[in-house]
Amino acid sequence: MSTDCLFCKIIAGDIPSHKIYEDEHVYAFLDIGPVSKGHALFIPKEHAIDLCEGSREAACALMGVVHDVAPKMMEALGASGFNLGVNHGVDAGQEVFHTHLHVMPRYAGQARTFEKRQPSQEELAGVAAQIREKTMPDA
Ligand code: 5GP
Ligand code: ZN
Repeated sequence: MSTDCLFCKIIAGDIPSHKIYEDEHVYAFLDIGPVSKGHALFIPKEHAIDLCEGSREAACALMGVVHDVAPKMMEALGASGFNLGVNHGVDAGQEVFHTHLHVMPRYAGQARTFEKRQPSQEELAGVAAQIREKTMPDA
């Protein structure tokens, strides 16, 4: 936990988020500026500024969760694929310095844009609830 880190505050619940998955080591929630419906950020609970500063184990665990959870997201949303993204370092466009993987669901017949939208909180809450039905059915 880093006290001045936005994503650590989200994990702690000090800043609200639209959660789509959580386990002992990983937290996932909707991006507030999605490029597609269901665009989510997967983050390790242990703070590190980026994928390579964190441990190899943390990186592997994070990818393992994406492996298991992304197909459930796709099923919940009716997506036909997803882009997986990492902006590593300022020059690559990293804005939040807590390791995160972007999972951006994609849909047949829809343009593959990376332009961010600003959906309402209500819309994000609805999308997150739809995803959680498949990713956290017992929650
Ligand atoms: P980066 O450019 O660092 O790879 O991506 C950071 C992402 O975090 C951006 O896509 C941005 O929209 C998202 N983001 C920034 N602040 C918040 C926030 O307070 N809540 C959520 N859910 N996402 C955020
Ligand atoms: Zn952090």
